[in-house]
Amino acid sequence: MTMSSQISLEPARGTDPARRAQILQDPGFGVHFSDHMFTSTWTPDQGWHDSAVRPYGPFTVDPACSVLHYAQQVFEGLKAYRHADGSIWAFRPEVNAARFQRSAERMALPLLPKTDFIAAIEALVSTDADWVPSGEERSLYLRPFMFASEVFLGVRPAMHVTFAVIASPAGPYFRGGFKPVTIWLSEEHSRAAPGGTGAAKCGGNYAASLLPQQEAIAAGCDQVVFLDAVERAVVEELGGMNLFLVYADGTLVTPELTGSILEGVTRASVIELARELGHRVEERRVTIDEWRDGLVDGAVAEVFACGTAALVTPIDTLKWRGGSVSAGAEAGPVATTLRRHLIDIQYGRTPDTHGWMHRLR
Ligand SMILES: *Cc1c(COP(=O)(O)O)cnc(C)c1O
Repeated sequence: MTMSSQISLEPARGTDPARRAQILQDPGFGVHFSDHMFTSTWTPDQGWHDSAVRPYGPFTVDPACSVLHYAQQVFEGLKAYRHADGSIWAFRPEVNAARFQRSAERMALPLLPKTDFIAAIEALVSTDADWVPSGEERSLYLRPFMFASEVFLGVRPAMHVTFAVIASPAGPYFRGGFKPVTIWLSEEHSRAAPGGTGAAKCGGNYAASLLPQQEAIAAGCDQVVFLDAVERAVVEELGGMNLFLVYADGTLVTPELTGSILEGVTRASVIELARELGHRVEERRVTIDEWRDGLVDGAVAEVFACGTAALVTPIDTLKWRGGSVSAGAEAGPVATTLRRHLIDIQYGRTPDTHGWMHRLR
């Protein structure tokens, strides 16, 4: 029996519609939350049980709760988009569901069936449909996550695990318009190592990226790019986005999946779309010298990062201790076209020829 047949609903009092409208007008990112959340509990004896959509609110966490000590935790990030006819859709949620399983496996957390992942999202979005904004580049950001909720300080996989989904209305990522960002090259710190957790979407990877990210900000940059942990020469990704170089001949190059890179849904979609648009796309080893030299001699015309939150982000400058190199100050045509294409699919303005959109309501 799947979770979908057993989700109970405990309705919230609900935000005043005028207040909600005010929030949806300028939601920012990750600061406001919808009226409900989805929760479910796992134990070895009962499996997943007690699944419910209930009022959004704090968990009661015991100080010995194991996630607070050993960070046994994974998460996902995807969005619900409102189409012009009022219907609500998710972009390739089954790919997020599959990645959630792989992340959970790496962190020794229980498997959540993909159908249950989707059912949880459908239940929450249906209940809080009024929280899905309409309009260009607005969405309801969905954050599924799973954590060790056992009260136990011993070091072993938890025997009590919580799965939850919360939802946060999101406005356009680029407040000042679609503008290129500056990237700081982290030469001391690694995000992930061979055999580590780089391919899992887990909080620990993000915790490890915060110090280098602080360094990037201090150096006047927006984001940090990480190199491989062994040679310190091969480009991996940003703290939360994958990376593409666009050659002047139209070829797109992106770091191959080595096990220490997170396999982005946006990355996979960009690869498919770019090929359809006639670009050659190579997934291979990309060194930092290739990026740097390519910008200097003009072989590389554009660089961009991609991920669910910002979709496609052009990168104009690469900065490191002692130097920097810049591409143009404008968003390049390839990044702009791919971004437009993805947005048109997500908002239902172009036919979904890939079957990427999943109707939630
Ligand atoms: C989530 C994430 C991405 C982007 O993945 P999408 O599925 O495209 O949102 C890239 N890198 C890291 C480290 C991430 O956590």
